[in-house]
Amino acid sequence: MIRFEQVSKVYPDGTTAVDGLSFEVAEGELVTLVGPSGCGKTTTMMMVNRLIEPTSGRILVDGEDISRVDPVQLRRRIGYVIQQVGLFPHRTVLDNTATVPALVGWKKAKARARAAELLDLVGLDPATYGPRYPAQLSGGQRQRVGVARALAADPPVLLMDEPFGAVDPVVRERLQNEFLGLQETVRKTVLLVTHDIEEAVRMGDRIAVYGQGRIEQFDTPGAVLGNPATAYVARFVGADRGLKRLSVTAVEPDDLEEPPVARLDEPAADAAARLRAEDARWAVVLGGHGELHGWVSADSLRLAGDEGSVGDLARRMEAWVPVGAPLKQAFSEMLQHDAGWVAVVDGARFLGVLTPAKLHEALRRSVDAEAQGVPRDQVDFDSVADA
Ligand code: ADP
Ligand code: MG
Repeated sequence: MIRFEQVSKVYPDGTTAVDGLSFEVAEGELVTLVGPSGCGKTTTMMMVNRLIEPTSGRILVDGEDISRVDPVQLRRRIGYVIQQVGLFPHRTVLDNTATVPALVGWKKAKARARAAELLDLVGLDPATYGPRYPAQLSGGQRQRVGVARALAADPPVLLMDEPFGAVDPVVRERLQNEFLGLQETVRKTVLLVTHDIEEAVRMGDRIAVYGQGRIEQFDTPGAVLGNPATAYVARFVGADRGLKRLSVTAVEPDDLEEPPVARLDEPAADAAARLRAEDARWAVVLGGHGELHGWVSADSLRLAGDEGSVGDLARRMEAWVPVGAPLKQAFSEMLQHDAGWVAVVDGARFLGVLTPAKLHEALRRSVDAEAQGVPRDQVDFDSVADA
């Protein structure tokens, strides 16, 4: 959808901001550009909507060489969100949001109806916030208006330059999650610039890690964290990348072990005999349809003698996660419940247990780009940041 071919930008004063950049963003993909200040991220971004012209190379949007497209026409297909938002102070929130549809000639009523719809989509009640002026909003709310405005004309491409940079960390996290939720629905092709590796990992389907004017690595979050291409990338992603990797690698069915199992309605004595034969200290208790009910210890089964069924002795399973959850969540469940393993379920159905050894194996697997990613709204960096 967006394709850079050997693109360079040298500013008139001789600064090379971008040097021979080639990469491609697929339709509906969210790619984050991450790197330190001054490495060329904003320059890259502004060449896509022709606010800056490359010195050499080509940029294609939807297969079309953009140097041949009228910049005004081009920008109608590309939403643009910047940190300073750039709302008009003397226009209401509703009119600010309706700016682009109005510009491209929509009737006023239609543009406003669309704006109201978009405000709603970004979590701002149009009846409450529509009539307000930008100064009457919090920073986070202004940022939401910026996103709503960028989406108003329904452009296929969205450029976001440090969109959450100006708000405090708590609001930033909320905005990130909201945007990811929104992206699930609208599926825009997004280039998002940030200097924050955690934001890049959390938001990106893929990440472009910038060095000075060049991309050092362009890959999935798991691969960048697990297998940094250069010493520079390793330094940039940080020494705690193993912990970050826990957040972006999913628990997969292949990671699981099959523990001893007892049926809910099975006589306790039968289960006790079986566990003794298997030399097992506990069993997972399942209902008739393979649903996870809890667990039972071999000791309690033995003490019950000939009395009762497994169901009478079963205890609640404290440590469990859904399949596809981040490894970090599984690890945190183990720690929180002081458990030697966690049960993994698919809906109610029990799939198996994840042990520390298997968790370690899964973490090693995550260096492989084939590893399944975690749905990003489940990525949670709180405890990683604390660690
Ligand atoms: P980033 O967004 O990663 O912080 P920029 O793309 O803004 O980086 O800038 C890349 C480099 O180009 C920096 O060295 C910056 O100082 C330089 N630069 C940016 N804009 C101009 C300009 N208009 N004239 C000269 N140099 C510029
Ligand atoms: Mg910048």
